[in-house]
Amino acid sequence: MSIPEIFGSNVFSRAVMKERLPKSVYKEVVSVMENGGTLSAASADTVADAMKCWAVEKGATHYTHWFQPLTGATAEKHDSFLTSPDEMGHTLMQLSGKKLIMGEPDASSFPSGGLRATSYARGYTAWDITSPAFVKEQSCCGTVLCIPTVFVSYTGEALDTKTPLLRSMEAVSKQGIRICRLFGNTKATHLTASVGPEQEYFLVDRKLYEQRKDLIYTGRTLFGAPAPKGQELDDHYFGKIRTRVGSFMKDLNVELWKYGITATTQHNEVAPAQHEMAPIFSTANVAVDQNNLAMETMKRVAYAHDMSCLLHEKPYAGVNGSGKHNNWSLGTDTGENLFDPGDKPEENLQFQLVLACVMSAVDKHADLLRDSASNVGNDHRLGAQEAPPAIISIFLGDQLEALVEKIVDGDAPTVVPGELDTGVSTVPVLKKDATDRNRTSPFAFTGNRFEFRMVGSSDNIAGPNTALNAIMAEAFCDAADALEGAEDFETACKAYVKDLMTKHQRIVFNGDGYSEAWVEEAARRGLPNIKCMVDAIPVLTQPDVVEMFEKFGVYTKAELESREEVSYENYAKRIGVEAKVMIHMAGKQYIPSVIAYSTTLAESVAAVEAAGADASVQKELLNKVSALLKDAQAALTQLKQVYAETDAMDDIPAMAKEYRYTVIPVMDALRAPIDELEMLVDSDYWPVPSYGDLMYDV
Ligand code: ADP
Ligand code: MG
Repeated sequence: MSIPEIFGSNVFSRAVMKERLPKSVYKEVVSVMENGGTLSAASADTVADAMKCWAVEKGATHYTHWFQPLTGATAEKHDSFLTSPDEMGHTLMQLSGKKLIMGEPDASSFPSGGLRATSYARGYTAWDITSPAFVKEQSCCGTVLCIPTVFVSYTGEALDTKTPLLRSMEAVSKQGIRICRLFGNTKATHLTASVGPEQEYFLVDRKLYEQRKDLIYTGRTLFGAPAPKGQELDDHYFGKIRTRVGSFMKDLNVELWKYGITATTQHNEVAPAQHEMAPIFSTANVAVDQNNLAMETMKRVAYAHDMSCLLHEKPYAGVNGSGKHNNWSLGTDTGENLFDPGDKPEENLQFQLVLACVMSAVDKHADLLRDSASNVGNDHRLGAQEAPPAIISIFLGDQLEALVEKIVDGDAPTVVPGELDTGVSTVPVLKKDATDRNRTSPFAFTGNRFEFRMVGSSDNIAGPNTALNAIMAEAFCDAADALEGAEDFETACKAYVKDLMTKHQRIVFNGDGYSEAWVEEAARRGLPNIKCMVDAIPVLTQPDVVEMFEKFGVYTKAELESREEVSYENYAKRIGVEAKVMIHMAGKQYIPSVIAYSTTLAESVAAVEAAGADASVQKELLNKVSALLKDAQAALTQLKQVYAETDAMDDIPAMAKEYRYTVIPVMDALRAPIDELEMLVDSDYWPVPSYGDLMYDV
């Protein structure tokens, strides 16, 4: 098949619907997709039948309501299309409109953070008509029709990440349109949040992966001395793609194309064995679904190539971790991107107002954005010397920073992007971008969108985008409230922009976000610097956050409380598993191996001395190894104890904090001597593959 034929071939797209549905039903579906409302029961039956027939032609035997509970992963329960047999023993393949629209999975084991205990135990899945259904073909487990859904409780509370996202998209659309109206735009009816997530990942040989319990159970290495060569030469970044990886990428592209996902760019990332895939952006909820699907597909395709795809934020200590740069913009249905400054931003009042709203939203809710990008793995990146720092700031680039200064102070010069002359006569003079790039900024303006660079590679991007849309809805609403009905709109708007930019200019920072000087400067500016996930979680139920989310109907207070609880629980459980895996690996693999090696060493000391030769080198090594072994054993004993004490705690938030501040330091204390031992012990004795093996053998 050619690429245009493959592309989207597994998606029940608009084109497929147009071809297969009666005209009137197709029109009804499109209207509901674009303007909201509900499908009539008869039309739902027609759509369901068409969807089933299409899926069955593709080999599907089952369908599933595909949803995104608070586990961070996607969930599916397969139902067969088969009806119960008639008296002749015949069966039919069927999907009714009712089953398409709503399902009730037995979902009582999903985390609900107390939402269902306090209300009702039932959970329902409901079709998200704005994200297309698709079929997943898996040679091992058959073909399944996946229907993207939201997941809510009996009383309508969101039990998933998708429902709040959809609510936030409606909120920002409604408030954003008010801004468009202020500038005389009467045509646009809604605003769409668009998202393009750049996905970073590592690949590792499957056989080596299987020898590492830490990779298997936690997705990252919990031990490991640095390889002799890391990323110091920067030779992996954008380097030649190795054959095995290239063949993975080739197959991945085909699989993603089938789902209508285009990898626009693919390249090697900074660390050895690290890569990136960026899809073309789409509507926020579709981007979320596609990113989940992409992550799943990456793992599946890697497996087929005898590799494992690591989506963890920090698979290896000492080299770069992985993030997911969340490119985000807001555009009208008439094709106007609100973040596009145009050629003359200094004359573009609408852009200035939108920019002022972004500055105020991000400054006011920096702590919320920080929390939205938190997950257990990301604690290894944020604030470390390689990822955007935990301090939120906005990078605007020279041109826009000068514009803000001019608006605030009145006398800064206007900066216009110049031309780029390479000095080579055969290379044309290039027009420069309005902004250079700043790899150290957590929230960077990149010409017509913002790139939220803090998000973790394994995370569901629904959370960060819900936060972004909601805080923008609030800023737009405040601006519209202040400016609607102004007698002299232009004067009032300019004054409003100036006021807002003056108040929130502290959030703009174009310098080096990795430097210590910035940490101090940010503290002087009063910007929050929340160092880890457990410290960020309480932001969710802060009064200003609850008020904002409730005002725009994105989360209720109860929903926020539930997410707070789930986050603490998730943190505690994951660190608990890491601690247990360390106990297992140290006790059953490393310490016995080191004992075996030191026994051999001792025997060799005795043998050398018996021969009357100098055994000082062997002795010195033996002493070093024995001392480190003792340290490791002491730390192991301590880890067992603090883990048991922490695991027995009842208060979940206190337990999460205990893991963070008591257990993790002991885990570090256990890792240190073992990593040192790895550099001393004969590699034949070492029980697991080294960093060098893992990173260079793909
Ligand atoms: P860059 O090299 O500038 O980072 P890429 O082509 O790699 O650009 O794009 C990065 C991501 O940003 C891609 O996923 C792309 O689809 C997405 N993107 C581009 N324009 C927009 C936009 N207006 N809104 C949201 N995402 C966008
Ligand atoms: Mg980019």
